[in-house]
Amino acid sequence: MVLPSRLARQLRSARTWIALGVLAPIGMLVVSGLMLLDLRRDAWDKADQTSRNLLQVIERDIARNIEIVDLILQAVVDNLRTPGVAEVTPQIRQLILFDRAATARDLGAILVLNENGDSVADAASWPARRLNNGDRDYFQAHKANPYLGLHISKPIFSRLLGSRIMVLSRRINKPDGSFGGIVLGSLQLSYFSHLFDQIGLGQDGAINLYLRDGTRIMRHPYEEADIGVNIADAPTFRRFVSAPSGSFVGTSVRDGIERHYAFTQVGGLPLVLNVALATADIEAGWRTKAFVIGVVVMTLCGLTVFLSLLYGRDLRRRDALQTELARLSRTDALTGLPNRRRFEEVFGTAWDRAQRTGELLSLLVVDADHFKRCNDRYGHAIGDEVLKGLARCISSSVHRPDDLVARIGGEEFVVVLPETDADGALRIAGKIHEEVATLGISSAGICPGAVTVSIGVAVGPVKDGASWGDLYRSADAALYAAKEAGRNCTRSATRIASEAHRVLRLVES
Ligand code: GH3
Ligand code: MG
Ligand code: MG
Repeated sequence: MVLPSRLARQLRSARTWIALGVLAPIGMLVVSGLMLLDLRRDAWDKADQTSRNLLQVIERDIARNIEIVDLILQAVVDNLRTPGVAEVTPQIRQLILFDRAATARDLGAILVLNENGDSVADAASWPARRLNNGDRDYFQAHKANPYLGLHISKPIFSRLLGSRIMVLSRRINKPDGSFGGIVLGSLQLSYFSHLFDQIGLGQDGAINLYLRDGTRIMRHPYEEADIGVNIADAPTFRRFVSAPSGSFVGTSVRDGIERHYAFTQVGGLPLVLNVALATADIEAGWRTKAFVIGVVVMTLCGLTVFLSLLYGRDLRRRDALQTELARLSRTDALTGLPNRRRFEEVFGTAWDRAQRTGELLSLLVVDADHFKRCNDRYGHAIGDEVLKGLARCISSSVHRPDDLVARIGGEEFVVVLPETDADGALRIAGKIHEEVATLGISSAGICPGAVTVSIGVAVGPVKDGASWGDLYRSADAALYAAKEAGRNCTRSATRIASEAHRVLRLVES
């Protein structure tokens, strides 16, 4: 039963409640902080997963479409090599060359250019629409390098369509291996914008398609000025080409917005695709939750602290009140001296110590002489004043911290003097007589010397088995002797015994 009572005592302590009021909110803050961190991690994981999924879908679509265009171009190159194609009529040749061209989606034009750049075959019309693209980079590139394979151009404006396109081209070799022109297929950039526009990526989200040399082919959301811009030197782009695919958080050179980038190379092509989600968009939902949870938790914490402090203050007040009550219950209201209860506590303790140590303990019982007469003559109120005066006189006669002066009855006082022998006690008694002799109440016409006291002194412990009650009775008997002797004097009991028939020798002080 020790634990529960200890717990109950601790629960009644103001300090425990204040400590709980501080620790509980700290606990709440830690738990909700961990929970918010977990929610934030979830938001990031979800964003990462979403961008990777999107990236995969878009990459497959682009790779597939480019593969289709390339297959058409390869078919044209193969068909040109077919024996007899040069000899057939232009209409038949048109049919042979472009037999697989019609299936391509978003294909702008499919043209065959000769070694000078002049259009010599056109999938969309016969005779071919006339143009010369000998000046284009892709034409010059194939002319200079027979091993380019599929070439993907930077975004350019189509001379035939007037719209933005990207040109995919392959070199045509003459039978002797020399440059014989190119076959090209243009892909409308609107293909990419339509593809990207289907995807919602938040307020600052973006999708970008670059050539490996850093040239931007398309961006979503679309802005004309972004197309064709080269960002090869941007730190973000360097990371795009550092690995086949991956993700990281970086700041855009274009608009300074921090984003989570998921990137991948497109098929085996010289293209880089990325899906970028703004950090702020990723955390927007989490921020709202964090704000709401934060406000609720902070309010609860504040409330807990407030209530605990309030309760702690009440407990403290109650403790103070109890202490005050305890003090009052041991104090005499008239004189402010300790009362009988306090006297018994202190005297009992002093007695026990004296028993243990063998040191002497003196007790004085002081009683006002003929006090009834004083009351009868001057009235009760003046009697009270006299009692207060007596309390002062007796108190000023003792000086040691362990000495105790108490009022134990109507006009009866006691003085407890630890570690004091009979001589010391008699000296104090003499001092009390002297002090009382100076007591007068001028308003009532009571002159100094008019009030006197009789004092009984006893010193103990003398014999084993005696109790503090015995000592008190001895002092009281000595007081009786003093009264008998004519009052205003002190008598001392020389021997204390616990037996019922104890012998007291009373000597005059
Ligand atoms: P003795 O010399 O033998 O002690 O005579 P005494 O009159 O002092 O003793 P007694 O016991 O006959 O009377 C004590 C009186 O003290 C009775 C009572 O009126 C008075 N008294 C007790 N308590 C108070 C008090 O609080 N105020 C006042 N004014 N008088 C009190
Ligand atoms: Mg008296
Ligand atoms: Mg009395």
